[in-house]
Amino acid sequence: MNDDASVALGVDLGGTKASGVILRADGTVARQLRRAHDSTGQEALDVAIDVVRELLSDPASVGIERVGLAVAGLVDRHSGRIVRGALLGLDDTPLGLRIESLIGLPVFVENDADATLAGVLHDPSISPDADDVSVLVALGTGVGGAVAVGDHVLRGVAGFAGELGHVPIEEPGRHPCPCGSSGCVELFASGTAVTRIARATTSFRTTEAVLAAAESGDRTARTLLTDAGTALGHALVPLVNALDPRTVFLSGGFGHAAATYLVPAMEARLRRQQSFPESRSLPRIVLDPIGPMAAAIGAAIIARDLPLHPARTSQFYSARTH
Ligand SMILES: [Zn+2]
Repeated sequence: MNDDASVALGVDLGGTKASGVILRADGTVARQLRRAHDSTGQEALDVAIDVVRELLSDPASVGIERVGLAVAGLVDRHSGRIVRGALLGLDDTPLGLRIESLIGLPVFVENDADATLAGVLHDPSISPDADDVSVLVALGTGVGGAVAVGDHVLRGVAGFAGELGHVPIEEPGRHPCPCGSSGCVELFASGTAVTRIARATTSFRTTEAVLAAAESGDRTARTLLTDAGTALGHALVPLVNALDPRTVFLSGGFGHAAATYLVPAMEARLRRQQSFPESRSLPRIVLDPIGPMAAAIGAAIIARDLPLHPARTSQFYSARTH
């Protein structure tokens, strides 16, 4: 294969945008596109399918044999099924199979935070050592997360590994979470949570208004944002003390927009309960270096690198021989 050949296509289907990339064999991006949408259910699925088809019609797609798809939600990556995808109205949807049946290529479905971390670790400026632990906190409408050792993103038995949004930060029972537990950090630190708390306790109606006021020095707005950072730091304490990560990446629209206020608050909270502080430093907390295309790039990398499940290998072998 020549190094200019394109090898993988990745799409990130989020709650308000779909992004897609074609990756060359050397990992660089040959094509990319972004499309705004506000759809859910089958319509959201159609948006993802349109992005895949548009990229496959591009001359740069010649040679592509695999498609990666990142989605918000809990994913069974062996079957390509979204198990929980409430944000997109796609609970219990065999997303991978539906798209495969339309395009005739294997589709690898991945949680969007896991795909984002795969994309970030692929960046030449990161290059983790084999034993390095990396943590990603994805802040948007929810709080997503991912954990990797070296460049391997951990999934766990059912795909829940790295679900930082559901680390509890208070005693049980006070604030029920839709996940079935209670006191989860997502209830205090997501963009949605900050909006809800702002409406209940201040005159701010939107996260954008809180951010704008914080920029102009408003103390109430800054407190709303630093409280979210403190909650995140609280949730990260057990991870940092137990896993000793080198880097915590902050990603997502709200994470990027509010980083100025979130990061110092996260660091301050971590310091209060850091174990062995005289012997090790806190992990670096940095913005992810790729930004909005990271999940699409990571989805393409995962599709490129994962072995096909045996049942699906035979399916696509027979599909390609016709
Ligand atoms: Zn929860």
